[in-house]
Amino acid sequence: MGAGQLARMMGDAAHGAGVILTVLATSPDDSAVATADAAIYGSPDDVRALDELCAKVDVITFDHELVDLDQISVLEARGVMIRPNARALRFAVDKGHQRRAFDAAGIPVPRFIVVTSKNDPMLKGFLDSVGPPVLKAARGGYDGRGVLFPQSRVETLAMIDELSRTTSVVIEERLSLRSELALVVVRGLHGYANYPLVSTVQSKGMCVEVRYPADVDEATQHEANRLGRKIADLVGAVGVLAIEFFLSDRGLFVNEIALRPHNTGHWTIEGARTSQFTNHLLAVSGRPLGSTEPIVASAVMVNVVGADEPGSIERASEIPGAHVHDYGKSWRPGRKLGHVTVVGDDASAAHVTAWESARAYGTRTRET
Ligand code: ADP
Repeated sequence: MGAGQLARMMGDAAHGAGVILTVLATSPDDSAVATADAAIYGSPDDVRALDELCAKVDVITFDHELVDLDQISVLEARGVMIRPNARALRFAVDKGHQRRAFDAAGIPVPRFIVVTSKNDPMLKGFLDSVGPPVLKAARGGYDGRGVLFPQSRVETLAMIDELSRTTSVVIEERLSLRSELALVVVRGLHGYANYPLVSTVQSKGMCVEVRYPADVDEATQHEANRLGRKIADLVGAVGVLAIEFFLSDRGLFVNEIALRPHNTGHWTIEGARTSQFTNHLLAVSGRPLGSTEPIVASAVMVNVVGADEPGSIERASEIPGAHVHDYGKSWRPGRKLGHVTVVGDDASAAHVTAWESARAYGTRTRET
């Protein structure tokens, strides 16, 4: 379900994983239609299109979390194989549910409350104790949309009022971040594996760059591995599960999870023995997982986000060492159009080359 760039890259990996991929797309222009074996057209909640999809495939998986969980549960009750299932998907669809369940399981998360209005009786006490908070729409946000950083109490209340018209609101302490990290794990029916931690660089709530290896000590990697296993089992994930972490002076905190291949795992296409896309397809089709071992000393992935003027994919691709992945989307300022990965022994040279290529391609984001 879904035919964006993640499904497109699953399409590239499908035949190698022994999978025939059919996508539920909204239009023939959708990114994944070009690489899939077949496409069915309709919105993710279009009953007719879903029925057509169910009749055609053995297992359904996702490239986004903007799904109707009630509808997915109905399909499951009918015997349709859905991986990850509705129970697992709820963790990614509803940030309030995710925070509460992780907190109850002893998984470290920022201090938080979930409210449905600015009149919640818990609100004043919580805001007095944490200072300026971060506000998050419990449902429907992505790439920083739905995440707000109010500057004053008046602004906080106004923003909660606005967000709570459409969704409940997670209010949490604003941590002082040393860095942001991500762990991509794969949970199959008979196995579990994880890729090593990566560092992520964010600009305006959007990930702009991913670096392997992460700049962390062994204890941090070890703790992330432990949490990754615990979360995968708690959620009951099948397929790729990506965990975004905050590293603060108080240690690791889980920010959020996604139950699908993730932007922070794109480097595995060139950088690991088995890519996250192949492993996702192997996992959801019930087969043994591939090795998650890196095959390079370092990798840098830079997202290409449409600049004010379109650039040139050809010029970007001519830069030696740049692996340019174009998502086949029409250019629009601010739109994620593709990514560039550079691997090698020298991490800082890879960083320079990846940005040079991304700039030629026409990225709006800046080198950090
Ligand atoms: P999205 O789901 O839209 O990706 P995130 O929850 O990942 O949103 O938040 C986007 C970015 O905002 C994070 O990558 C981080 O830089 C910043 N951020 C989010 N929550 C906090 C927090 N509690 N403390 C400090 N920074 C935060």
